[in-house]
Amino acid sequence: MIKDKVVVITGASSGIGEATAKLLARRGAKVVLGARRDDRLKQIVAEIGAQGGQAAFRELDVTSQSDNDAIINLAKERFGGVDVIFLNAGIMPNSQLSALKTDDWHQMVDVNIKGVLNGVAAVLPTFTAKKSGQVITTSSVAGLKAYPGGAVYGGTKWFVRDFMEVLRMESAQEGTNIRTATIYPAAVNTELLNAISDKATAETMQKVYDQYGISPERIAEIVAFAIDAPDDTTINEFTVGPANQPW
Ligand code: NDP
Repeated sequence: MIKDKVVVITGASSGIGEATAKLLARRGAKVVLGARRDDRLKQIVAEIGAQGGQAAFRELDVTSQSDNDAIINLAKERFGGVDVIFLNAGIMPNSQLSALKTDDWHQMVDVNIKGVLNGVAAVLPTFTAKKSGQVITTSSVAGLKAYPGGAVYGGTKWFVRDFMEVLRMESAQEGTNIRTATIYPAAVNTELLNAISDKATAETMQKVYDQYGISPERIAEIVAFAIDAPDDTTINEFTVGPANQPW
């Protein structure tokens, strides 16, 4: 059931996170949006409210543990608890390794890996204590296959796959009933490519997205499906992308 669930969403200021917040709110969830661009969050929350949905927001940098703790506290204060966390914030400044864009490498590790760790650390005590909860993450097809130009991004998304599977196993072992779902999207039209500083990589990827990219609402539907599954059921992994994208 989605209705009345409290769902915290990271990376909610654009793309997949924004589309998911809007869809879940339309289906009766209480959504709590986090990202760095709080002006965007404010606008999205206003739109949701204007359509009769319930939403709150907070500026969030996922690399900060205290920011992650604060957004969980906001969910509790505003809506009385937290049922689902959608760890979706991520960046993809791809480039060839030989370009030595080491700042980009470290930034991807900080956001795509440590951001997930910080979010789970913030919510796990609550889920463990109440013996229920759901953790949903956005990995990528780059977490399933290797691509030139995507060594570090892919590595961060492979990390998410392993981490989520062990979270699922340990929760089952410990009887804490924490459901997990990991989503592996291919090309989705969002703002993700804006962070690519390497010109050649940006142009190549833009062509792929122009040819194949699908709407972020497709991914939002997957998140909704995972939440809607019965509480005794984990639907653990979804690979989803354009029907005509060959790789
Ligand atoms: P967008 O760039 O549109 O969204 C990324 C979101 O992450 C934004 O809301 C951004 O908000 C947020 N974000 C980035 N850095 C931080 C940070 N340090 N702290 C908090 N929030 C942050 O792209 P998508 O919607 O495509 O990306 C969502 C997820 O989907 C990512 O994890 C991405 O890797 C994954 N993905 C996307 C695919 C695609 O083709 N689009 C394919 C496979 C996976 P702000 O800048 O305001 O902080």
